[in-house]
Amino acid sequence: MAQHRHLRSIDWETTGREALKLLVELLRFDTTNPPGQEQACAEHLAAYFRTHGLNPQILVSAPGRGNVVVRRVGNASKPPLLIGAHLDVVPADPSRWRHPPFEAEIHDGYVWARGAIDMKHMAAMGAVVLALLERNNIALDRDVIFAGVADEEVGCALGSDWLVTHHPELVRAEYALGELGGFTLYLNGKTIYPIQVAEKGICWVRVRARGKPGHGSVPTAENATVRLAEFVAKAGRTRLPMHVSEPVRRFVMALAETQSLPARQVLPLLLGDAFGGRVSTLILDRVMPDQGSANVFSALLRNTANPTVLRAGTKTNVVPAVAEAELDGRIALGSNAEELLAELRALAGPDIEIEVITAAPPTETSPDTEVFRDLAAVVADHDPGAIAVPYVIPGFTDAKSWSKLGTRCYGFSPVRFDPKHDIRYAELYHGDDERIPVDGFKFGLRMLFDAVCRIAATP
Ligand SMILES: [Zn+2]
Repeated sequence: MAQHRHLRSIDWETTGREALKLLVELLRFDTTNPPGQEQACAEHLAAYFRTHGLNPQILVSAPGRGNVVVRRVGNASKPPLLIGAHLDVVPADPSRWRHPPFEAEIHDGYVWARGAIDMKHMAAMGAVVLALLERNNIALDRDVIFAGVADEEVGCALGSDWLVTHHPELVRAEYALGELGGFTLYLNGKTIYPIQVAEKGICWVRVRARGKPGHGSVPTAENATVRLAEFVAKAGRTRLPMHVSEPVRRFVMALAETQSLPARQVLPLLLGDAFGGRVSTLILDRVMPDQGSANVFSALLRNTANPTVLRAGTKTNVVPAVAEAELDGRIALGSNAEELLAELRALAGPDIEIEVITAAPPTETSPDTEVFRDLAAVVADHDPGAIAVPYVIPGFTDAKSWSKLGTRCYGFSPVRFDPKHDIRYAELYHGDDERIPVDGFKFGLRMLFDAVCRIAATP
């Protein structure tokens, strides 16, 4: 099927300008989290919706922490579709940027701002898509819900997770389109659009070593700081056992299929746990073209526990009785917190205690759905020759929260990068000089509108 018929009835020149204006306005709200303070930005979106005949709600989870939810009602012959975007951003150090991070200036064909791709572009596109559905009186089989949420960058507690707990009726949907997917990736001359279908779980842990306190002048074998340091170094350097899951297998195989030899044959070897995973390790360490990709693939194939916080002692000449560390543990698809803890205990001596700070299981949606096929068709129709690949991420997104209501979540916040846009998407994420190509943003807007029409419009 070619692009949806409703695309032809829209003046994309004018609509593109309207979306760009809204994007710039959203980016000028400094929603750095912490402290977030997303409410003004949410109110701005609400005002936009009201001028387009929609009836948004602002839901405040804490002072200044606003979420905006709006719904365009369909005939309910199918359950709703949710478009989700978080409105908070990570910090930006202006001294390291070429253009100020909260002015959203346009230079060289890009909008430069913190949040340009993570992910106020999706907030602007999603809002304009709802306005287009309303203005063009497009009949819907599914309600289309837009949720602009607070607090994703710090763990979703005052945003998507709060909505799921306190207002589930407002955000319950069969499918959600959200973060991490739908962007262009060029790999060995092939054009790929990853679409997120799964994300790893979380298991943050606190570890504690106990020892014998005493005077710093006499070293002993029972020093808690040394015991902790030994464990932390081991946990940080050891690759835990492989857990090859179906979503990761499909991601790697789909990626391999887009490639020519030798990558086509080498990539699947990552999944081999033969010889205790030594073949996989060899590919990661010796064959992968860059360390960054090797690190990501390694993280997808196993549980990880990355030491991040250390606490021990207060005085140079006093040996403390206790030393503590925190590890950012992530659970592989198909694994669970118990397995991760068992793997960590196997590395730890008897004098190390391990306690869970917070845990959430991995999130997974099958790509074998009508909606995933719609998204793949959108990619192929808008960017001929491009291939959609079901993608797994080592981090987490609001999908963690939406999926608690049974929602099937796909990462699809489309933006097209041209090969001439000499930038890598992954480096812009939380990086300096975050920016979005203006033409790629407008391209993404058409893709998102097409996707929403295919998924939700009455045929
Ligand atoms: Zn994000």
